Amino acid sequence: MTRVARHTSKVSDHNEISPNSTDSPAPQANSTAPHATAHPIELRAPRGARLLEIDWSDGVTTLYRHRVLRAFCPCALCQGHDGPIEWSDGADKLPDQALEIEELKEVGQYALQLRWGDNHSTGIYSFRYLRELGGLYPLDDAEVRASTFGR
Ligand SMILES: [Zn+2]
Repeated sequence: MTRVARHTSKVSDHNEISPNSTDSPAPQANSTAPHATAHPIELRAPRGARLLEIDWSDGVTTLYRHRVLRAFCPCALCQGHDGPIEWSDGADKLPDQALEIEELKEVGQYALQLRWGDNHSTGIYSFRYLRELGGLYPLDDAEVRASTFGR
């Protein structure tokens, strides 16, 4: 079990009626979509499960099959330097051991670095990219393999 926990504070809307309305906070401009700033609160990658589960700060939970995560590893070794990120054929030839997640590490405040059972660890998955990859989970195999992502 690998866990990364963070402190989070809940922001709730204040709708109390105040006799003095001048001290109510000005509405905050929110120029980005909520998921653009969401970050993982908890990661669950039980050994042998071949499934990574991420709880996000905006209440969303995303699931990832390990082979899919690995096939869409965004590193230059897996994806080359040009074009969209796509299913890497090498992922089909990997032994089972290579699909074990050995380590999950936060990089800065924006990404996760995964180290796989074969020591492949050059893939840096930005939070934004992980949210996109989370959309693959309900898709069937052919749809997953046909998916591409911008860099
Ligand atoms: Zn890679």
